[in-house]
Amino acid sequence: MINIGVFKFASCDGCQLSFFEIVEEILKIGDINISFFLEAQSKNRFDEFDISFVEGSISTPEDIELIKKIREKSKKVVTIGACATSGGIQSIRNYLNYKEILEYVYPSPEYINSLEKSHPSSDFIEVDYELRGCPINKKHLLEVINSFLLNKTPNLPRYPVCLECKIKGNPCVLVLGKPCLGSITVAGCGSICPSYNRGCYGCFGPIEKPNIEHLQEIFKEKGFKGDMFEDILTSFNAYNRTYREQYEKES
Ligand code: SF4
Ligand code: SF4
Ligand code: SF4
Repeated sequence: MINIGVFKFASCDGCQLSFFEIVEEILKIGDINISFFLEAQSKNRFDEFDISFVEGSISTPEDIELIKKIREKSKKVVTIGACATSGGIQSIRNYLNYKEILEYVYPSPEYINSLEKSHPSSDFIEVDYELRGCPINKKHLLEVINSFLLNKTPNLPRYPVCLECKIKGNPCVLVLGKPCLGSITVAGCGSICPSYNRGCYGCFGPIEKPNIEHLQEIFKEKGFKGDMFEDILTSFNAYNRTYREQYEKES
């Protein structure tokens, strides 16, 4: 029997919904028990887990305690989605004045006990696999589950969106004058956005060694308004470690 846990931290719940979309396939895999999944069932047991899936960013002191507890109880931990792997949209605040934001958003900020920054789980625990996307792709989730059960590395793309885009024969929207992050963003979505004639805005997060400076130069040459790097930061994977390091280098 394989015991699975599905956990949520600060998030919109969109990635967890992928489990509902592949529930039949999961049941076909065999002897699987989901003992913890608050969104899906009323009876839950915090147990020893073979695989724990974690959605959402770590945003409160309690979250830090819980993610560490999940790590202790789990053989494998897989983070799912931009929130859990990169801090998510909510990590836009990480580059702004936290106190000012609190005062702006809440009438009584003294009652708020959140962390100054929104973190990926990997800031606090060792993570066995990061599944990217906002939201994740259900086929990728199934591949990860199958792979962990078979004790193999998930066979998911590591190359950029541009490759998928070219295979599809899309005209390059960047060449045609629209900002596109496809060259530094990891593939897996089927290059959906360029296929509909708009630029990739990087929801799958960066490839392993993105040439950010080069793309930044192209954006400048094209005369796009604003700062490309700021644009990356103010999107889905704002606190991804690669972007974070680049930001720190620039500031
Ligand atoms: S990664 Fe996107 S879809 Fe998934 S929980 Fe976060 S905001 Fe929602
Ligand atoms: S449209 Fe974007 S993803 Fe497609 S080839 Fe051009 S830069 Fe790459
Ligand atoms: S093209 Fe880019 S922004 Fe659009 S879904 Fe794919 S990774 Fe996300």
